[in-house]
Amino acid sequence: MNTIAERSLNQPLGGNQMPRFAGDATMMRLPGQESAEGLDACFVGIPMDIGTSNRAGTRFGPRAIRAESSMLRPFNMATGAAPFSHMQVADIGDVAINTFDLKKTVDIITRAYGGILDCGAVPLTLGGDHTLTYPVLRAIAAKHGPVALIHVDAHADTNDVMFGEKIAHGTPFRRAVEDGLLINNKVFQIGLRGTGYAPDDFDWGRNQGFSVVPAEECWHKSLSPLMADIRARIGDAPVYLTYDIDSLDPAFAPGTGTVEIGGLTTIQGLEIVRGCAGLNLVGGDLVEVSPPYDPSGNTALIGANLLYEMLCVLPGASSQ
Ligand code: MN
Ligand code: MN
Repeated sequence: MNTIAERSLNQPLGGNQMPRFAGDATMMRLPGQESAEGLDACFVGIPMDIGTSNRAGTRFGPRAIRAESSMLRPFNMATGAAPFSHMQVADIGDVAINTFDLKKTVDIITRAYGGILDCGAVPLTLGGDHTLTYPVLRAIAAKHGPVALIHVDAHADTNDVMFGEKIAHGTPFRRAVEDGLLINNKVFQIGLRGTGYAPDDFDWGRNQGFSVVPAEECWHKSLSPLMADIRARIGDAPVYLTYDIDSLDPAFAPGTGTVEIGGLTTIQGLEIVRGCAGLNLVGGDLVEVSPPYDPSGNTALIGANLLYEMLCVLPGASSQ
């Protein structure tokens, strides 16, 4: 990849050029463009909540994440990553979902991501409810074949049906397995917890070959060793990272629809995303931010930061 000296790379609008509370409301105040053409990575919003089962509101997630991202600066002081020195990145806006029809919306998303991937850009998605990961994975697998998956969530999202429906925010990973989109023995579910309908609720994935790391196994410790193990087990397979904000404890991230206590800390969230450095990441998403339940904006703020951290661990983010 060319360096900044050889081609003009987009930079986030700095706080000394325009006050941080002003300017265009794009992710990180990056330039916006209509397609992913010419980009190495892109931020894209999917403003949907018609797959949610409890509190709605995630249709407002992309806007809130973009608003809270205005404080983000280009350099990662902890990891040394300088993604905008190595990659062309822009915000390509939102997918024009059909808010009256979930099944049509799923197909709209797959088509939109097919276009992004055809441009050679790695998509980082601002959600939106977790239904969206299924159609994104369809497009990802069409390009890369079945992928490894790191799924951070309070919930397994492997229900067969919800209220009789196959498509909902609690079913995406069951559908993904059925469609052959995943390398089942390279799927890692981290942070699962809460009450269930039956004692074996988390076993469906295990029976497919998933590794399930319940929240209780994450309590009181660093997750860096877990991520080292996951990296070793994934190897050089293409990987998709899907991060449900409700994996975090509601003390940190109350602004979401299906809240469970005893969750991960923001520090553990950072360890998970930073622990993806070195993997062949082919896409990622941050889902289930629900601004109506987020009066401080902190849930969206965490979401914006985790998306930036995803950008920092893309394979192209550190290439010269
Ligand atoms: Mn989820
Ligand atoms: Mn969840």
